[in-house]
Amino acid sequence: MSHEAPLPAGMPPGFDIRGNELCVAGTPVSELAARVGDRPFYAYDSALMSERVRFLRTHLPAEIDLHYAIKANPMPAVVQHMSGLTEGLDVASAAELGVALSTGVDPLDISFAGPGKSARDLEDAVSAGVIIILESFNEMERVAALAAKHHCQPPVAVRVNPDFELKSSGMKMGGGPRPFGVDAEDVPELLQRIAREPLRFMGLHIFTGSQNLRHEALIEAHDQTFALAQRLAAESPMPIQWLNIGGGLGIPYFPGDQPLALEPVCDNLRQRFSAWQAAHPDCTVVMELGRYLVAEAGVYVCRVSDRKTSRGQVYLITNGGLHHHLALSGNFGQVIRKNYPVCIGNRVHGDTEEVVNIVGPLCTPLDILGQRMSLPVAGIDDLIVVFQSGAYGFTASPHLFLSHPAPEELLL
Ligand SMILES: *Cc1c(COP(=O)(O)O)cnc(C)c1O
Repeated sequence: MSHEAPLPAGMPPGFDIRGNELCVAGTPVSELAARVGDRPFYAYDSALMSERVRFLRTHLPAEIDLHYAIKANPMPAVVQHMSGLTEGLDVASAAELGVALSTGVDPLDISFAGPGKSARDLEDAVSAGVIIILESFNEMERVAALAAKHHCQPPVAVRVNPDFELKSSGMKMGGGPRPFGVDAEDVPELLQRIAREPLRFMGLHIFTGSQNLRHEALIEAHDQTFALAQRLAAESPMPIQWLNIGGGLGIPYFPGDQPLALEPVCDNLRQRFSAWQAAHPDCTVVMELGRYLVAEAGVYVCRVSDRKTSRGQVYLITNGGLHHHLALSGNFGQVIRKNYPVCIGNRVHGDTEEVVNIVGPLCTPLDILGQRMSLPVAGIDDLIVVFQSGAYGFTASPHLFLSHPAPEELLL
């Protein structure tokens, strides 16, 4: 490890550099590439996921359950690992439910959210006995019909579309008109109807948004979430035994992003939780996180297959791109494309740096991995490593677009 050289810009903690080469979970990236063969790959460090959960728990009130939202990274080995670190899993399709159940987690520690659940989704959820997060009046009726058909009492919770917004969230999921959940003002009516059906009412789910780096905004959202839950509880004919307050904790992706200040968020949560618990002593409070738990533990690795200069600009053309990592290309909900942190994995420090554009092999100008980045001079066969890639990478990308080989996934 060279001590004089600065670390690659934006490299998250937990990776090390040995002999000018990036190591993931202690293994040089070129060795991982040799293991995989020709294809680009994702590599996830399970120890970093464990470490992230441990760090979060040093701040989070011990009474709050932590769930892993598996859509962030549903690789079965990752889900298995996360199931051992958290109190439960959140799923959003029948296939994700299958992965979650195969970990052996208690069905009552699995919740199933998502608008427009299919007949198969609901059948599977009812027969597994997981908590079904109702997203509409119609969905409540469909679950009630299944309950009558199967002579069972499925556990359900109501997803609330709050009457406030999470400020400065990367992706808003609540407030205003939304396809998610039931508007807060209509929830009392839905609760009255649930009380008359063969449904086991568990509680409420209030999720305001994703990828937030501002602690002030999260604190305000938590204040409003508990206040809304309190108002709805007062109007509910049944006790609230389960309250899912969502997640929303962000990670730094781009130059200038600062890591979230966890301490003020958790200090505030402790107060809100205590007040809530005093009124609802038997209620389980759940925080569900995807990105925050796994994103920094993963890298995406591809290889330079060509290099050229066009009108004064250098292009590194790789065998990976937006078909493997859509978010990296700036096309997964971003308003303006910014560069993820990137390094040349087998040549972390170079004698000279140059400004390059890194692009993929697809015939579209959208296939961008890095724009005007200053990196050590690289050539054909060098490895491009993209950090912050453990969430919303592999499964959030259009692998079939242009029919190149899909990437590999490794859990280390
Ligand atoms: C996507 C999603 C999450 C996870 O969001 P992250 O930003 O990855 O933490 C949590 N809850 C629900 C309902 C979701 O849809």
